[in-house]
Amino acid sequence: MKSTEEWNRLTFSYSRTPLRFVAHYANGRWDEGGLTEKSEVVINESAGVLQYAQTCFEGLKAYTAKDGRIVCFRPDLNARRLADSARALEIPVFPEDKFLEAVKKVVAANREFVPPYGSEASLYLRPTLFATGPVLGVKPAAEYEFRIFCSPVGAYFQNGIHPLTLKVADSDRAAPHGTGHVKAGLNYAMSMRAGVQAHAAGFDENLYLDSATRTFVEETGGANVIFITKDGKFVTPHSTTILPSITRRSLEYVAEHLLGMSVEERPVRLSEAADFAECGLCGTAAVISPVLKINDHGKEIVFPDGETSPVLMKLRETLTGIQRGETEAPEGWIFPVE
Ligand SMILES: *Cc1c(COP(=O)(O)O)cnc(C)c1O
Repeated sequence: MKSTEEWNRLTFSYSRTPLRFVAHYANGRWDEGGLTEKSEVVINESAGVLQYAQTCFEGLKAYTAKDGRIVCFRPDLNARRLADSARALEIPVFPEDKFLEAVKKVVAANREFVPPYGSEASLYLRPTLFATGPVLGVKPAAEYEFRIFCSPVGAYFQNGIHPLTLKVADSDRAAPHGTGHVKAGLNYAMSMRAGVQAHAAGFDENLYLDSATRTFVEETGGANVIFITKDGKFVTPHSTTILPSITRRSLEYVAEHLLGMSVEERPVRLSEAADFAECGLCGTAAVISPVLKINDHGKEIVFPDGETSPVLMKLRETLTGIQRGETEAPEGWIFPVE
């Protein structure tokens, strides 16, 4: 049995756990699927995932709530988003109810890797859907695999929360009418080079603008953006090429219904960013990471409350309290896995 400190010290990286769920699609239907010890995937060299990146994924956490139950946070939204991603990539949809059953099976089978209540660590689940059938001409493959594996991960902020510095990216992550709203591996492949360059230049992340006009704030490579106005309003960019973050949608609800804040989802110009009091990134891994600065080609936007981000921290505390079962959750948000 690991101590809380040992759990928290785990990094956000892959470690092999004993069992994963795998199902296959062939001849027009998904099989029942089941648990397997095999962490290696053997596929044809001409598989659709290898040649034309026909793949999408999800990310969610299992953890121990205050009452001792092992739970996930809104996995039904992951199931639906994966189905939406599949449709956008001409991949056969994996049924949403079967997705939830598979989540339960994987967590139960790897129960000993779920950190205890009180640790900031969690068991991270990675559902993946990919084309295994061979293709040479460009078309959807005829065979697919659905897989959920899991890996214990530590506290996202190992040394406490430190505010981030973003760089306005020179490249785009999503084209208008493209796949920006889809959780597709290909979006990440496109962001690798810009990410490596941003890190080498001392920045934490790239901030992408809308690719059509390069005037509106979109998101980073893997997290949505939230702003807090000087009079305490919650503002988040609206765009059809932003990935619909479950964390961001949950925070909007928390802000409006539990904290009585006004919430605006609207296009946000980069030129108005300097008027906000706080800025943060949100996603499953970190919940909210405060941003101190955005560097726009040498011109710095510094958020006056970025160092402490009191409003964002209040939102973060409220949402993590709900997730851990310390605060009453809105109906259906907490999903017991056993
Ligand atoms: C997964 C992802 C997010 C965060 O979504 P959550 O559901 O909150 O984890 C944000 N942006 C992109 C591009 C993503 O792929």
